[in-house]
Amino acid sequence: MNFFRLQVGSTFVKWGSGTRFAQIRCPDNPDHARSGDRMGKLSLDVTSSIITDFSDTPIEIVLTDRALSVLCNEGLTGFEPYPAEIRAVAPGIDLESLPRLWEVRVRGDGGRPHPDSGITVRYKCEACGLVRYTEPSRGLLVDPTHYDGSDIFTLTGFPGYKLVSPRFVETVLRHNLTNTSFLESSKIRPG
Ligand SMILES: [Zn+2]
Repeated sequence: MNFFRLQVGSTFVKWGSGTRFAQIRCPDNPDHARSGDRMGKLSLDVTSSIITDFSDTPIEIVLTDRALSVLCNEGLTGFEPYPAEIRAVAPGIDLESLPRLWEVRVRGDGGRPHPDSGITVRYKCEACGLVRYTEPSRGLLVDPTHYDGSDIFTLTGFPGYKLVSPRFVETVLRHNLTNTSFLESSKIRPG
């Protein structure tokens, strides 16, 4: 089966200024300090009146009510929706006219990339759990023996790449949900 990277443009929302993350520190190496999970609800500033069904932030995917209903009604799996909070709107935008917005957290698990991806562990810190992998120079291939069958999922070590099933792609296209494109996962390259 072919899988695809879900590519979403950043359009009408951005993180509200109060967005905070837990901080992970390493007892052995200060260079390993990094952000962990976001704290609290997703809080958004609406920057444009041109609403798209999908919109991206540096981490989360944001969906309109309509898009979430489509994904749920079609029985797609691998995500959990959480209501997002609108913190501020740009001048001229009527808050009442905006659809409800949802953060989608990807829960589907594709396990480790397929061995043919050629991805290996480059570095692992036992003290803080940081793992660095080699780049996906031959694409991010899904190993069917690890994949849990979800319609949206990530692979171990590559949470920034949200992968989707052909059924997910077909659903988005059939319902004309806006602001997505799809790249075959074998064509993913570093960067
Ligand atoms: Zn460390």
